[in-house]
Amino acid sequence: MILSLPLWRFLSSSQVYLTSLLGLVAVIGDILVKYSQQHVYRAVFDNTTHAIIGGLSWLIVCLNYRDRNASNTLLEIIACTAISSLIDLDHFCMARSLSLKDATNLKHRPPLHATTIPLVATPILFSIAYLYNTHSLHRYSLIIFTAFFTHHTRDATRRGYWLYPFGSTPPIPYYCYVLITLFIPYLIYGMRSVFKAKRTEISVIDI
Ligand SMILES: [Zn+2]
Repeated sequence: MILSLPLWRFLSSSQVYLTSLLGLVAVIGDILVKYSQQHVYRAVFDNTTHAIIGGLSWLIVCLNYRDRNASNTLLEIIACTAISSLIDLDHFCMARSLSLKDATNLKHRPPLHATTIPLVATPILFSIAYLYNTHSLHRYSLIIFTAFFTHHTRDATRRGYWLYPFGSTPPIPYYCYVLITLFIPYLIYGMRSVFKAKRTEISVIDI
C-alpha cells in the first residue's frame, strides 16, 4: 500500500541512493578538507567536493527523465561538474596571481561568489527561454543555477550567502547546508517540471 504512494514513485531507489551519496560526499569532503595538513591538499579536496556535489546534483535531476539521450545527459553532468569547480577561479582572477596563498587570502569575496548572480540571471534566462521556447537554454540555465547554488550553499557555512549589494547573510548551520544540498536537485526538478508543463500548454493551444 505504502509503495503505491506517489511520493515513493517520485523517489526511485536510485534517487534515494544517489541523494544519500550526495550527503556523504558533502560531509566526507569537509572532513578531508578539515584534516588535510597541507594547504594545496585542502584546496584540491575543497574544489573536488564542490565539483562532485554539482555533478551528482544534476545526475539526480536527470534521473527523472529516463527517455533522455544518454550522451546529452553525460555532457550536462560534465558541464555542471566543471562549472561548480571553475567558480573558484575568480579567487585567482581577483588576486591577480596564480599563488594559492594569494588566492585564498583575499580581503573581499570574489565576484562569482555573489549569490545575486544566479538569483538574477536564472529568471532572465528562464524568461528568454520561455518566450522563444528554447528548451536547451532553459536546461542550461538550470545547470548553471545548480552549479552556483550548490557551490554557494557549501561556502555559506563559512561566510553566509553573499547577496550583493545588500551584504551577506550570517553563516548557515552545518545541518542546514547538508539539508539544502540534498533538497537542491528536487527544487531544480520542480523548476524543470513547471517549464515542461508550460511547453505542453503551448503545444495544445497551437494544435
Ligand atoms: Zn567558492
